[in-house]
Amino acid sequence: MSCDFRALANEGVQKISPYVPGKPEDELQRELGLPRIVKLASNENPLGPSPKVVEAIQKKLNAITRYPDGNGFELKQALAAHLSVGADMLTLGNGSNDLLELIAKAFCGPGSEVLFSEYAFAVYPLAALSAGATPVVAPATNWGYDLAALKACITDRTRVIFIANPNNPTGTWLTQSELLPFLDEVPENILVVLDEAYSEYVASGDYPDGVSLLGRYPNLIVTRTFSKAYGLAALRVGYSVSHPDVADVLNRVRQPFNVDTFAQVAAVAALKDTEYLARTIKTNHEGLAQLVEGFEALGLEYIPSVGNFICVKVGPKAGEINKAMLAQGVIVRPVANYNMPEHLRVSVGVKEENEFMLSALKKALSDL
Ligand SMILES: *Cc1c(COP(=O)(O)O)cnc(C)c1O
Repeated sequence: MSCDFRALANEGVQKISPYVPGKPEDELQRELGLPRIVKLASNENPLGPSPKVVEAIQKKLNAITRYPDGNGFELKQALAAHLSVGADMLTLGNGSNDLLELIAKAFCGPGSEVLFSEYAFAVYPLAALSAGATPVVAPATNWGYDLAALKACITDRTRVIFIANPNNPTGTWLTQSELLPFLDEVPENILVVLDEAYSEYVASGDYPDGVSLLGRYPNLIVTRTFSKAYGLAALRVGYSVSHPDVADVLNRVRQPFNVDTFAQVAAVAALKDTEYLARTIKTNHEGLAQLVEGFEALGLEYIPSVGNFICVKVGPKAGEINKAMLAQGVIVRPVANYNMPEHLRVSVGVKEENEFMLSALKKALSDL
């Protein structure tokens, strides 16, 4: 008999259930060979890439034999200008997911606690457990964060608090007037990570811009990504903005070349393409309204969202409905692993994709 290698893993690692990604289109295509597949499962940009980004990568292809710029000079310069912050406040990541893990790795370990809300992004417990820390889950209210409950869970052992604003998978968000009193009360030796993966989509006037709060709250770390509104999910590039000393710490634990050359070049080009971003936001607002209207027409409840996705309540047979939609070539995201067994999360697509999804949902519901 061979050795029990699972038992050799660190205690926290043994407790991890691996992240379940949205089903890839190719996989469903292989399984079912359907003529049309619509994937609305991973909150990707439905417009396809910005042509300017594709061109920038093509021009750079010969750099493939060289290591990337490990310090990401050009991208940091572009971001510093874009955000009006010092380049020493920036840390680049292999997706913003990388930063969430670097933060846990650098600041948390056995005996420390990582705090987040019920229904929060699934990567937070993974990051905590990988670092050997204990995840602590505060109860939510109405699918959204309950900041009083979150505050009540702070202990002497709390090192990091993760807050996704807006949150994935629920699409709920915190306003400036809710967030500031909470930040005022968090002890300054606890790092608060404001995960703004979807901030570009939020139109609400009272939505806080985390970067503008950094001067007032030195213990804040804002993370953002090029995967969602900028349409670069495959390239894996994100960043954090923080106090320069926090950035210095993160810089020590990251891989020396954690963001590849094409990701860096693409991110610089993406930042410049303001037309693409504007079109993305417009498409999303229209698509979200279309989905809401569609759900209402089907008599379904949904959780109001400001992201590029929305959770719809289809009832206790959500698993079967998901399967029936897959059989029609529509990939959405079951969220039972978030303790939301009656919901499905649907990413906002372009008009035709949303229509296709809604008709597949309608058929799945009526066939039950
Ligand atoms: C998608 C997502 C991220 C990170 O995605 P990356 O592709 O790793 O940048 C981070 N936080 C939330 C809440 C997300 O939904």
